[in-house]
Amino acid sequence: AKELGKARSVAFDPAMRGTTVTPLDVETDLRRALERHEMVLNYQPIVSLSDGRIRGFEALARWHHAERGDIPPSEFIPLAEETGMIVELGQWVLRNACAQMVEWNRDFTDQGPFEISVNLSGRQFTQLDLVRMVTNSLEGTGLQANCLKLEITESALMENAQRSAQMLRHLKELDIKVCVDDFGTGYSSLSYLHTFPIDTLKIDKSFVQDMGRNRHNLEIVRTIALLAQNLRLDVIAEGVETPEQLAQLRAIGCGYAQGFLFSRPLTTENVRRLLAENRVW
Ligand code: C2E
Ligand code: CA
Ligand code: CA
Ligand code: CA
Repeated sequence: AKELGKARSVAFDPAMRGTTVTPLDVETDLRRALERHEMVLNYQPIVSLSDGRIRGFEALARWHHAERGDIPPSEFIPLAEETGMIVELGQWVLRNACAQMVEWNRDFTDQGPFEISVNLSGRQFTQLDLVRMVTNSLEGTGLQANCLKLEITESALMENAQRSAQMLRHLKELDIKVCVDDFGTGYSSLSYLHTFPIDTLKIDKSFVQDMGRNRHNLEIVRTIALLAQNLRLDVIAEGVETPEQLAQLRAIGCGYAQGFLFSRPLTTENVRRLLAENRVW
């Protein structure tokens, strides 16, 4: 065992590593990242357009790698999926985000209770023990179930619509909420959408960002907002960056918005600062 341990540590010596990152490196690195607190969560506010107040936050993972610097989630999430580490990482994200929200809901009762949105990748969504993992996180942190919202991309949902519908029903039994992320990019069958027990559609930022220049995208955003209204779902526009976009979304009657115009994803300290200001947009 000692020999093996030595061989392993040599094999993963960063100095000996080439520039290509193999999945095996990633697995070791990710595990270490969680142990050494290189992974943190940032939180981006989601604003209610009816009263301009913060309704909740989306948790977004950030990896400050000890040797390689910051690695964006667009890089490490797919790698975590390939290696299967997404299960462990996802568990960590969920648990941390729930615990954080309990704290803010306790300290800012005048503004809350806030919802916390947690992203699930396609692989996590098909994980058999997802329901147990969610239950454990709620029970372990004491977060009220209806304060938790899981975000699943439209394409992950549609990959196997029947199985998705079943998983969603199990999740709904826990009384948590579900948001379809990147809506508009994943070719939903509308007939399925109506059978899914979901709460929210989140309009993909590509449509939102191009609304001003591209009449067609403005119509897409309007149509999704109407669809949500008809299905009695909440609708969030993501990627809102300009006052013009905000004005258009208000005119359309979009319920919620998220984007750099309001705030970038923030560290926990900066969320506290923002909440202390009690900002209204
Ligand atoms: P997403 O779920 O669609 O998250 C929204 C992304 O848009 C975030 O990028 C956010 O920082 C960015 N964003 C927010 N507002 C604006 C804006 O006004 N303009 C622009 N240009 N971008 C904006 P981020 O944090 O780099 O995350 C990228 C993707 O990585 C996420 O896309 C999500 O799919 C994935 N991801 C992040 N954290 C997690 C996680 O904990 N678990 C899983 N499974 N996936 C995650
Ligand atoms: Ca998301
Ligand atoms: Ca999105
Ligand atoms: Ca996305």
